[in-house]
Amino acid sequence: MNSENDNKIPLGFATRAIHDGYDARSEQGALVPPVYMTSTFEFENAEQGAALFAGEEEGHFYSRISNPTLSLLEHRIASLEGAESALSTASGMGAITSTLWTLLKQGDEIIVDKTLYGCTFTYFQHGLTKFGVTVIYVDMRNPENILSAITNKTKVIYFETPANPNMRMVDIKAVTEIAKENNLLTVVDNTYATPYLTQPISLGADIVVHSATKYLGGHGDLVAGLVVGSAELIGRIRIEGLKDMTGAVMAPLTAFQIMRGIKTLEIRMDRHCKTAEIIAKELENHTAVEVVYYPGLTSFNQYDIACKQMTGFGGMIAFELKGGIAEGRKLMNKLTLIKRAVSLGDVDTLIQHPASMTHSTYTPEERAAHGISDGLVRLSVGLETPKDILTDLMAALEETSINQLKVA
Ligand SMILES: *Cc1c(COP(=O)(O)O)cnc(C)c1O
Repeated sequence: MNSENDNKIPLGFATRAIHDGYDARSEQGALVPPVYMTSTFEFENAEQGAALFAGEEEGHFYSRISNPTLSLLEHRIASLEGAESALSTASGMGAITSTLWTLLKQGDEIIVDKTLYGCTFTYFQHGLTKFGVTVIYVDMRNPENILSAITNKTKVIYFETPANPNMRMVDIKAVTEIAKENNLLTVVDNTYATPYLTQPISLGADIVVHSATKYLGGHGDLVAGLVVGSAELIGRIRIEGLKDMTGAVMAPLTAFQIMRGIKTLEIRMDRHCKTAEIIAKELENHTAVEVVYYPGLTSFNQYDIACKQMTGFGGMIAFELKGGIAEGRKLMNKLTLIKRAVSLGDVDTLIQHPASMTHSTYTPEERAAHGISDGLVRLSVGLETPKDILTDLMAALEETSINQLKVA
C-alpha cells in the first residue's frame, strides 16, 4: 500500500504506520509482513551477483547492506517523518555514529547543542575528537549563538529537542535557516518527540536520528536506532558509515518488533502526552517541588517554541525537589508502581537520576557547564492508568516532604 489513496490524497499518520509499503499479495496473503531471517541471498547466476555488487541491479544480497524486513521498516519510518529514505541500525548510538562517521572527516568542525544524551556527549567529547574532529558546544536555546561558532571548517550542526534530560528546546526552523545560509547539514535527534509530535525534515533538517529503543519500539523490549533523510545522504550513510565503519546492523526480528510498536505510536503518544500533562501540573503545584520542566506547562520558559513545533508535549518530565538530590533519591526509593530504571518511552513509567545514571558520562564540571543539575530527576510517563501513576508519585512525595518538614 502506498502513501496515498486512489484519489492521490495523502493517507493519515496512523494509516501509514499500519499499512504503508506492504502488499500482502506479494507474501502469499500474509496480513502481517513475514520476517526474513536470512543473512544472505542466492544469486540467479554469477552475472547477476556481479551486477548486484556493482549496483547495476537493485536487490538484496547480504543483510549488513539490506534485508526485506528492514527495508519495509525503513520505508515506514521515512513516510512518517516525511522523508525520502531511511536506514535501520542496531541502536540509537549506532544511528548517530554511522551518520557522523560518514559526514565528518579529520579537520572538520561540528557545532552541537550543550545538552545531549550522555553517550552522545561522550562520543563527541572522547570519540570524534580522537580522530581530529573539533566539537564546539553552543547553547542553542538562542540560535544566534551558532553564528559566532561557524568557521570555514564547520560541516554539521547537531542537537536534540526536547533535549535529554533537561527538556531544553531548540527552534528547529531558526537553526536550519542558519545552516542553509552557511551550507551546513543539520542533524536532529528526534527521540523525545517522535515523528508524531515533531517532523524536523519539514522544518528544514537534513537528517533525523532516533533511538528506536524508546517510543518507536515503545515496549522496553528492544534496542535499536533509525536514520532518516534524503536518498542521497541515507545511501552514503548506509554504504560508508554502516556497512564499513560501525557495522551496527539491526536484526530482522527487531525490525518486526518496531513495526508492531509503530502501529500504535499515535494512540500511545496521545496517551503519554495526556497523562504527562496531568502529572506535570500536579508536580508543579506540590510544595516539595522546586521546579518542573515540561514543554506543555505555560510556566515552561520555552513554551512558545514547544507550541510552534510540537503537536503535543510528549511523555517526558524533568523536575527538581526543594531538598535537591538527597530528597530526590528518597522519593525514588519510596515509589512502588513507578520503576527505577533508565531508558524511556516505554509502556511502564520509569524514573531515574541523570547525574548519577544516564548522564554520569559527563564530569561534574561538564554537567554544570551544560545545564544538567545534580538535583534533576527524570520521569518517563508510561501508559498505566493515570490515577495510579499519580497516586504512587504523590504518596512518595508526601512522605518525602513530611520528612523534610520534620527536619526543618
Ligand atoms: C537513548 C538515547 C540515545 C541512544 O540510543 P540507544 O538506543 O540507547 O543506543 C540517543 N539519544 C537520545 C535522546 C536517547 O534518549
